[in-house]
Amino acid sequence: MWVGYLAHTIRKVHPLEITRTPSATRLGPDHWFTGQVWLEELAAPPSPSRVHLLRVHFTPGARTAWHSHELGQILYVTEGVGLVQRRGGAVQIIRAGDVVHFAPNEDHWHGAHPDHFMTHLALHELGDDGEVANWGPHVTDAEYTTAPVEP
Ligand code: MN
Repeated sequence: MWVGYLAHTIRKVHPLEITRTPSATRLGPDHWFTGQVWLEELAAPPSPSRVHLLRVHFTPGARTAWHSHELGQILYVTEGVGLVQRRGGAVQIIRAGDVVHFAPNEDHWHGAHPDHFMTHLALHELGDDGEVANWGPHVTDAEYTTAPVEP
């Protein structure tokens, strides 16, 4: 019985932090994206944590600009069909359930397939400058349309 009391007391002192409703969904800015991309910040704990978790919804044809992450990034595709490319590599198709790893400072972009929505979780850490990414030029239509024609 005292164990139950102790657990009850600990829970009262350290309440579990639950965000019932994620922060408002916001439209991604034009200088980071082409097309309509909607962002939800799911987790951004206070310093000294650097972890940052977004859910990103890409409409068909929408994609990030070229960019990199100082400490790398992991994408987990939760819905739809998308495209991804790292600098110098082929455009590759990604689908729900796929996990993509980008190395630190690896130049890349990610987005929806031209004919499909795509949603992914994006997990990364803030760089020393406090930014989640270092942004470059937009992905041109010519670059984007080198995509595979499947599915
Ligand atoms: Mn990225």
